[in-house]
Amino acid sequence: MDRKQAAKIIDQITEICSNLPQVQIMEVCGTHTVSLFRSGVKSLLPESLRLISGPGCPVCVTSQGYIDAACELASRQDVTICTYGDMVRVPGKGGGLEQMRSNGAKVVVVYSARDALKFAQENPNTKVVFLAVGFETTTPPTAATLIEAEIKGVDNFFILPAHKLVIPAMEALLSGGEVPLDGFLCPGHVSVIIGSGAYKPIAEKYSKPCVVAGFEPIQMLNGILHIVEQNITGTSFVESVYDVVVSEEGNTVAQSIINKVFTPGDATWRAIGTIPGSGLDLRDQYKRFDAATEFSVDIDTDTCPAGCRCGEVIQGKVTPAECGLFGKKCTPVDPIGPCMVSSEGTCAAWYKYNRDSQT
Ligand code: SF4
Repeated sequence: MDRKQAAKIIDQITEICSNLPQVQIMEVCGTHTVSLFRSGVKSLLPESLRLISGPGCPVCVTSQGYIDAACELASRQDVTICTYGDMVRVPGKGGGLEQMRSNGAKVVVVYSARDALKFAQENPNTKVVFLAVGFETTTPPTAATLIEAEIKGVDNFFILPAHKLVIPAMEALLSGGEVPLDGFLCPGHVSVIIGSGAYKPIAEKYSKPCVVAGFEPIQMLNGILHIVEQNITGTSFVESVYDVVVSEEGNTVAQSIINKVFTPGDATWRAIGTIPGSGLDLRDQYKRFDAATEFSVDIDTDTCPAGCRCGEVIQGKVTPAECGLFGKKCTPVDPIGPCMVSSEGTCAAWYKYNRDSQT
């Protein structure tokens, strides 16, 4: 980090904030949350500026019902679950995938959907189910993998779909109106795909500044500066301080791959409930890959472990410290909710970097 440049931006932010009442900015994405803590940026900002973590951690927003469905699939002799590492550690109703794996269930950690497809091709005697979670960053690889699986005629490969969309979640938060927000720090990686223009409805309909930023300290500070500049001038529009990689229209090739395989549908978010149009359903041509249909598995309504306030945490309604289980019964070693499991989870970030703070 260029310290002089950082100090200058922090001075500018502090000066502007001294002329504003309390400012609350939501960083939509878990990667921002962790980077803000790790870089120390959060601790350098004025007290009147509060950064709130949003619903952008894929593991944290995945419903309990989905985890339980994954566990039910893992209990089948003929199924191998392929999944990202964090998902293995999320507790289910009767224990999670990690526990099932130690009891003999076939659960394999992969780095991508394509790895899961490769595993299926190399192991034709098992039915491989990839846990397809995440936002617009992980959706294009899932979609491209299904296109490849169809072309190659791989008939032992399936996904349990739970991809989610960022913009409907932001709109749902704002429509709820329970958390006063003065702007959004928008995630660079998601914005590469959807384009900065995707945030226009948020800026225009809800009058909230939206600034796209990368994950380097200077980029995040610049993003915050642009938001408070809009606050002081009473404006709200979309800006990007990550123009090197984010265009207004986004990656249209990735978007068309997503659209070929998926169509928007309602999705259940952990402890939030159903948000209309916030998920992605398989189109008819790709429905044969749906593990829920193939294995007749129901994804139950969402429940939350007793005392866990993950749903409120990911909506910015409470801080992790306000959860009575934080750091006591719930720790990264022995997590109760997904926000403590994921490396991008708000509770895990607080535990690692901000354990003694209440704010
Ligand atoms: Fe859930 Fe643990 Fe976070 Fe509490 S500290 S909200 S139990 S993940």
